[in-house]
Amino acid sequence: MTPVTPNRITHLIGHAPWEGTAERTSEVFNPATGEVTGVLDLASKELVDEVVARAAGVAKAWADTPLSRRSQVLFAFRQLLDANKQRIADIITAEHGKVTSDALGEVTRGLEVAEFACGIPHLLKGGFSENVSTKVDAYSIMQPLGVVGVISPFNFPAMVPMWFVPIAVACGNAVVIKPSEKDPSAVIAIAELWREAGLPDGVMNVVNGDKEAVDALLDNPTVKAISFVGSTPIARYVYERGVAAGKRVQALGGAKNHMLVLPDADLELAADAAVNAGFGSAGERCMAISVLVAVDTIADALIAKIAERMATIKTGDGSTACDMGPIVTAQSRDRIVGYVEAGVTEGAELVVDGRGGPFHGGENGFFVGPTLFDKVTPQMSIYTDEIFGPVLSVVRVHSYDEGLALINSSPYGNGTAIFTNDGGAARRFQHEVEVGMVGINVPIPVPVAYYSFGGWKHSLFGDSHAHGVEGVHFFTRTKAVTQRWLDPSHGGLNLGFPQN
Ligand code: NAD
Repeated sequence: MTPVTPNRITHLIGHAPWEGTAERTSEVFNPATGEVTGVLDLASKELVDEVVARAAGVAKAWADTPLSRRSQVLFAFRQLLDANKQRIADIITAEHGKVTSDALGEVTRGLEVAEFACGIPHLLKGGFSENVSTKVDAYSIMQPLGVVGVISPFNFPAMVPMWFVPIAVACGNAVVIKPSEKDPSAVIAIAELWREAGLPDGVMNVVNGDKEAVDALLDNPTVKAISFVGSTPIARYVYERGVAAGKRVQALGGAKNHMLVLPDADLELAADAAVNAGFGSAGERCMAISVLVAVDTIADALIAKIAERMATIKTGDGSTACDMGPIVTAQSRDRIVGYVEAGVTEGAELVVDGRGGPFHGGENGFFVGPTLFDKVTPQMSIYTDEIFGPVLSVVRVHSYDEGLALINSSPYGNGTAIFTNDGGAARRFQHEVEVGMVGINVPIPVPVAYYSFGGWKHSLFGDSHAHGVEGVHFFTRTKAVTQRWLDPSHGGLNLGFPQN
């Protein structure tokens, strides 16, 4: 095979690629082959501050651009993204590793947020109350914040940025986004589509980087809000530092999602769902099912069905006909393998061991196959920690109540699912479970764009969930106006609050 010459990947400052020379760079890999395909410029604090200042210089004009014109840009962007979705999906597969059909699915989910944001004139309608007092009217208006920052994780290089950017832009803000340094190219390709869609120069900017760039965004007083998605420790850090700097922050963190299977569930469908939700995207989804909670009368039968299906999964290069791609980096692969070793040492039963392959990709690709543990207990590290890989743990319980108590005792609360044919049990579960997103016979209950995405507890720091109406509120400030057009009847002195 001919060796790949790595591409330089740089920042996109408004409409133009950055022309400077970076003091620090990092490598971007194709995880299916292990080759370095890109060398990424990492932004310094000074560069981030410069980009923020430039964005601030155009933010007011964009905020004052009529809603009809802003929504035209959104419609044009939506068309361009739709026309380019296969190209973006291929970019995702090349840097993240997920299979192309899954990458296409993530672009489509991002596209849905752009479609939602096309309706921004409707979403920004405030309220109006006539005659709140004699000849006095009250109304509210929603105004953009100015410059906002978005910091995104590696696992959805297109969809997560798209949860925020279309809404922030539609609301009239200027955006500085810092994508994951592991797979930055999808965000850059999407930013180029904003330019083609007619977004004014400087409203959308991509700075690449690591902690230095993140800290610069958090500390810069011109940045009014931060939308962050990543692991729980970094989400907590970003939230605390951003809030201390006086910003509005929504920081979405990690997860440990449980799927509770009751004895009356259709076990064939439950087994399909567990495999799809456990091993899709190699388990590198914040909504992946990583714990299967089986009521013990059906546990043996369910595990046998899951193991049968796992034997058919082809792990390999996501750009070829495989079901599951590689892990994003060699370090992440080694970390996952470390957890499998810990699971064995701690006494869980390793039903399917994915460490040995076969793998249908490059010899140096970062692969781990689907792995299944039974008889996992809540004390084991494979249960307590977010592994973020294709490792499914089965915890056996005696009853619905025991399963519910287990789920509610988790420090995370991102997603969960119940599989049952009992409507009453499902209804109890949706009411009693302490998790932000709940699936009833749906293993990965990612809300559609016009609802909002977000977990509870350590899966979200801050008050606002992503996209939907909560997204519009996050990216705007509300002003309440009280107005009176003076006429002679308003004369006279009255030092109290008006009564009517
Ligand atoms: P990560 O926390 O390592 O990185 C996220 C972002 O933070 C990246 O842009 C990265 O450059 C930056 N970052 C990393 N270390 C930093 C530091 N020390 N200081 C400041 N910034 C830093 O997460 P990841 O590995 O890219 O993504 C996977 C994680 O994201 C998982 O925990 C997953 O559950 C979570 N996630 C959560 C959601 C959600 O909606 N709750 C969605 C997707 C991913």
